[in-house]
Amino acid sequence: MGAAVRRFLALLVLAAVGECAYIPYNTSAGVVEGKLNVHVVPHTHDDVGWLKTVDQYYVGSNNSIQGACVQNVLDSLVVALLKDKNRKFIYVEQAFFQRWWRQQSDMIKDIVKELISTGQLELINGGMCMHDEAAVHYIDMIDQTTLGHRFIKEEFGQIPRIGWQIDPFGHSAVQAYLLGAEVGFDAFYFFRIDYQDRDTRKGTKELEVVWRGSKTFGSSADIFAGIFPKNYEPPPGGFYFEVNDKYPVVQDDPLLFDYNVQDRVNDFVAAALAQANITRTNHVMFTMGTDFKYQYAESWFRQMDKLIHYVNKDGRVNALYSTPSIYTDAKHAENEPWPLKTNDFFPYADNPNAYWTGYFTSRPALKRYVRVMSGYYLAARQLEFFKGRSNSDLTTDSLADALALAQHHDAVTGTEKQHVANDYAKRLSIGYTEAEKLVSSSLSCLSQSGSKLHCPSQPTNFAQCLLLNITYCPPSEMDLSQGKTLVVLVYNSLGWKREDVLRIPVVSDSVVVHDSEGKEVESQLLPIANASLYIREKHVKAYLGTLPDAKPKFWLAFPVSVPPLGFNTYFISSGKKSASVSLMSTLYPSQGSKNSNMQIGQGQLKLQYNAAGELSMYSDSKTMVEANFEQKYKYYIGQDGNGSDPQASGAYIFRPNGTVPINTNGQVPLTVLRGSIVDEVHQQINSWIYQINRVYKGKDYVETEFIIGPIPADDGNGKEVATEIVTNMATNKTFYTDSSGRDFIKRIRDYRAEWNIEVNQPIAGNYYPVNLGIYVEDGSRELSILVDRSVGGASINDGQIELMLHRRLLHDDGRGVAEALNETTCVDDQCEGLVIEGKYYLKIDPQGEGARWRRTFGQEIYSPLLLAFTEQDGGNWANSHVPKFSAMDPTYSLPDNVALLTLQELEDGSVLLRLAHLYEAGEHTDLSALASVDLNRVFPDKKIGKIVETSLSANQERATMEKKRLQWKVEGPAADEKVVRGGPIDPSTLIVDLGPMEIRTFLINFDQQSGKQLM
Ligand SMILES: [Zn+2]
Repeated sequence: MGAAVRRFLALLVLAAVGECAYIPYNTSAGVVEGKLNVHVVPHTHDDVGWLKTVDQYYVGSNNSIQGACVQNVLDSLVVALLKDKNRKFIYVEQAFFQRWWRQQSDMIKDIVKELISTGQLELINGGMCMHDEAAVHYIDMIDQTTLGHRFIKEEFGQIPRIGWQIDPFGHSAVQAYLLGAEVGFDAFYFFRIDYQDRDTRKGTKELEVVWRGSKTFGSSADIFAGIFPKNYEPPPGGFYFEVNDKYPVVQDDPLLFDYNVQDRVNDFVAAALAQANITRTNHVMFTMGTDFKYQYAESWFRQMDKLIHYVNKDGRVNALYSTPSIYTDAKHAENEPWPLKTNDFFPYADNPNAYWTGYFTSRPALKRYVRVMSGYYLAARQLEFFKGRSNSDLTTDSLADALALAQHHDAVTGTEKQHVANDYAKRLSIGYTEAEKLVSSSLSCLSQSGSKLHCPSQPTNFAQCLLLNITYCPPSEMDLSQGKTLVVLVYNSLGWKREDVLRIPVVSDSVVVHDSEGKEVESQLLPIANASLYIREKHVKAYLGTLPDAKPKFWLAFPVSVPPLGFNTYFISSGKKSASVSLMSTLYPSQGSKNSNMQIGQGQLKLQYNAAGELSMYSDSKTMVEANFEQKYKYYIGQDGNGSDPQASGAYIFRPNGTVPINTNGQVPLTVLRGSIVDEVHQQINSWIYQINRVYKGKDYVETEFIIGPIPADDGNGKEVATEIVTNMATNKTFYTDSSGRDFIKRIRDYRAEWNIEVNQPIAGNYYPVNLGIYVEDGSRELSILVDRSVGGASINDGQIELMLHRRLLHDDGRGVAEALNETTCVDDQCEGLVIEGKYYLKIDPQGEGARWRRTFGQEIYSPLLLAFTEQDGGNWANSHVPKFSAMDPTYSLPDNVALLTLQELEDGSVLLRLAHLYEAGEHTDLSALASVDLNRVFPDKKIGKIVETSLSANQERATMEKKRLQWKVEGPAADEKVVRGGPIDPSTLIVDLGPMEIRTFLINFDQQSGKQLM
């Protein structure tokens, strides 16, 4: 025990001795065999932003919205834990804990370190936030968990053992096996599952299960999962003890009135027996706490001390201070087989008309911002590593923090108040701005000529265009007529070579594109649609406060080829004096009813439109796939809550009250642009939906860009806008959606594999989260759609897929946020409903071939090419610059089935490397095979001094984690499994093998002298 702790305790003892009717409570109980053990688990649930911002919650400001101050919780907790060494507490959200920690004195830090090392205070879950599981991408889940886990390891030497996802609105398979078993958790606790599922499980005592979330990994990634019987609050019977709570405290002083010890003991025992009735084994958990409680921790502990003391004197049950770790160990020690759970817990409903499937789409612009920043962060860390991290200079750290917060279950979900959504966006913007400078500086160093990495004293400023989605890119809109040349450096963060088509706005109708070898590159100009110019002007004014100087007239489209983990450079100049200027697209505007059958596509893929201007046929001459095909829009009227069940549609809940097809009166006027690189079909679907379908000559998929909004609400109806693809495929109620962007899970309409569902909401009850994609198949074809952010999706009829793209609602749905989801954009105090721009991608493959596109192209959507612009500084760029670069061996690329998820230099100079196999077992005939990565060729200029494989969150050695892992027994016969995983890495060959779906994480130390040195 440290000196500081002793001093503190001495003071407490003095205070206690001064009281006359002192009762020493015996709180020392541990597990007692043969008795019902009630694990009293004190906890607080602290949202890192919801009704207030994360900082407001921390400091306790803005209390008129919610009386919540996390600083109070942590300050008072230290005192309360020191009073009695048997008291325990768990703390979860590292974003708050780290804010508090850096403000503490060395004395308090010493005390807290001791509380943690003795297990009185346990840090569990351990990410920066309690991330959502529906609207998050697994790469973000890994990053935000790693950030928290590494802090806990470095500061306290601790490894969190328990997943504590008590509030997210449904639970993903990826959370269970990847963010659970693969980070080394022994168990995972939560409560939000469908109310019908919960009722069933209570009856069969199946609230506690072994969850096998991965088909590929089978039992090797099992985790014990505990679902709370009701919620994450104290059990029924009045056990809330915050200072202003209204429940009876234990009054045990006979000199005072209202002595109630026996009553309260009876209440406690009754609650324990009720819970034991639906729970296997002699262990139940009482979750003692809820949102932002323990602001004066002693008020809870005082009561729990008494309850434990008197309940154990009573003797009917055994009550003990506990933690989820102790509880898990007790469950494990029973050595019983547990029911098996596969798949996931989506969608979540808490009432017959309350499916929490609206939040899959809520705040689509914030969701896109998070996804774009996620891909950018991946690329920026690579460039930070190539340049060499400098802890005193620009880093990606603030983007990392902002992204971590944004994964919270009231952040990217869209279920926070508007001012809080703005706060998340502001943090992302600040993080991006710093990372953007770092990226520019790294590219400046890497593109400088010389045998070694050389950062010029006058770095080139590489401007980037975050707002390309609203057609805003000042550097590409420069005037080229005076002989200037625009340099476009194109960075590829993927581990394989990439061929793509760039589109950038330009002002001139006469430009020419050259590649890094000086050769002219074929290019095409496409007039910018008025709808795009409109959102450009409006949003530049709204967000930057000014109107843009230039007015681009065209998109310049040209093909690029970029090496893996590297860049290539392209040059754009005035085409006036050039032989082959960029070709203007041929324009075919249709007028009124004069559409006739029409086909687009210069390559293997053709789309056919009928005379009414509707998409009617998809055909691929290479794969011989054909399908009748319709593409439509509709909206659901959001239930306003005035019916017999007052449940409204809102930020969380999707409750449609009727479907309205978006009426085009059989005529959708088309504008068709054709060219050598891409064909486009523009359609003004109605006054607030604009759509562009693109077919690239060299590509075999359709790209659909949509601009939706402002959704009109002046008729008093909230609206939830969906697009749908309708084919004649016989899909037998079955469709597939991804789990947090990773595994695909089979969905069957109106059906749940493990329990009998009564469907009260046939549309909302069949919606699932989509982060990567959704597909259907009919035995001969697969129709896949991939998305650019998380959305809700479903197959409501056979052969059909729909995606909900935007929502504007006028009523709150009664789950606490107390605001309608009614986003607006304001210019000069004139506010209109939010307009969103986005893309989805569609392909039809022969049966069995769809996975290749979903996985490979899916990774390209997540990691788009990073564009950096500068002006040629006189002379020939190539004379003083490296025009083409790959960090890997120039003859090497990662296998088609492997992605580089993380390449990051950490604060201590070590390097974090994560490689992911992209295919599930059996998903593809060739690509589901074991893959190998040669690290010598990934890092050709460096020598690996030390390499250690770690857990997913990089806080312990993988081998140690595997040794400690608890093995759980499962009811029923053992599964017949063939799990393929790569073996340990051999430091002499440095070959990493990856089995299907494997993600392998390494910490690498490079030998100092071998690396490129900064000069
Ligand atoms: Zn919460």
